[in-house]
Amino acid sequence: MRCGWRRQYERRAGPPQASSHPLGGQAQRAVGAGMSAAPGGRSLWQNCRVATLQAGVNQPYGLIDDATMVVDGAHLLWVGARHALPEELAGGTSQSHDLGGALVTPGLIDCHTHLVYGGTRASEFEQRLQGASYEAIAKAGGGIRSTVAATRAARTDMLLRSAMARTQGLLQEGVTTLEIKSGYGLSLEHERRCLQVARALAQRLPLTVRTTFLGAHALPPEFEGRADDYIDAVCAWLPTLAHEGLVDAVDAFCERIAFSPAQVRRVFEVARTLGLPVKLHAEQLSDQGGAALAAEFGALSCDHLEYLSEDGVRAMAGAGSVAVLLPGAFYFLRETKLPPIAALRQHGVPMALATDHNPGSSPVLSLLLMLNMACTLFRLTPEEALRAVTVHAARALGLSDRGMLAAGQRADFCVWALDHPNELSYWLGRNRCQTVVVAGQAVPPSPITN
Ligand SMILES: [Zn+2]
Repeated sequence: MRCGWRRQYERRAGPPQASSHPLGGQAQRAVGAGMSAAPGGRSLWQNCRVATLQAGVNQPYGLIDDATMVVDGAHLLWVGARHALPEELAGGTSQSHDLGGALVTPGLIDCHTHLVYGGTRASEFEQRLQGASYEAIAKAGGGIRSTVAATRAARTDMLLRSAMARTQGLLQEGVTTLEIKSGYGLSLEHERRCLQVARALAQRLPLTVRTTFLGAHALPPEFEGRADDYIDAVCAWLPTLAHEGLVDAVDAFCERIAFSPAQVRRVFEVARTLGLPVKLHAEQLSDQGGAALAAEFGALSCDHLEYLSEDGVRAMAGAGSVAVLLPGAFYFLRETKLPPIAALRQHGVPMALATDHNPGSSPVLSLLLMLNMACTLFRLTPEEALRAVTVHAARALGLSDRGMLAAGQRADFCVWALDHPNELSYWLGRNRCQTVVVAGQAVPPSPITN
């Protein structure tokens, strides 16, 4: 049995930094202290077992035993077996890290969240347990709309503070890239504010944040009975927000309780004129043909997909769209209709996993837990699950510089006190992440506050 990881790799966290800003102390501690190497320096990470997830490594998980990684600045310069390390790379490094046989994986990527919002929906959770359905709650003005009201009422610093606390939990479990959707503002002013908070998170915490405009999430009360007028407004806001640099992608919720395919098409057409990629909440509660529509626009991903048809699967395969599966929402809503995993496999549609973190249908703050749920509920294999939160999640965000460990990729990786990558899917409620490295820099642990 391998037990080398017990010789723990010692983190080099620095002392807390003082700051007069209410959020600044924490931010400085995360960004400024405890970094493992000077930016631009070269470091050696050795005596580890690396799940590269490279297709070229002919082992499950692209596994390399007794591996060495050479990091140069923010990127990987070399990854391979220690004995194969070229001599010219062995010297000239400013730092060397002995990982004691620990497991290394790419940094995890949570490619679908709604992380910026006010309030919680714990009371609706209680109502559902008393018999109310998600759709019935939404029709009665609850659901997304109650979070919209709480988000609009929240002070910006409180939105940021609560989102930071949630993000820190994900970061400590190895998440190094995070997608955040708007969609709880539902006015130009409030959608902008949520996207700005998402951008601010990336300034304060050491991880990449990708923003997605989800104006077509729900109908705000001021547009009651006027869904087409609201879509006109969303189409008008999008160029403004895009020109302000706040939008990396565009999403919509295509469902009976949200927007029709025709309405989604109008939003996507504006996205296309702006050169923005699209994604879609599709086929979660019924088959609306949303995935096929999104595929027409070359969607990065279609997400949820419990009711996805065979035609929808084919359309996604043709467009190269990623299927983002969200077992947290499936579990929390006690759904029983499974996404068509066998058909997705058969047609070669890459599968990603995400938390879908949101206060209504998936208050999940553990991407690791999604690995286990994907295996137990959807019958993914542990290797499929790990690829789903790395390689395929990167693709769902249109990012080609991360998600596997190979020369030229970003040096985003996690060191785990585990023997084998299948344990990432096996354990429940056990975070064995020892060290998170983002762009070549080891991130010190920071306390979770709220
Ligand atoms: Zn969602």
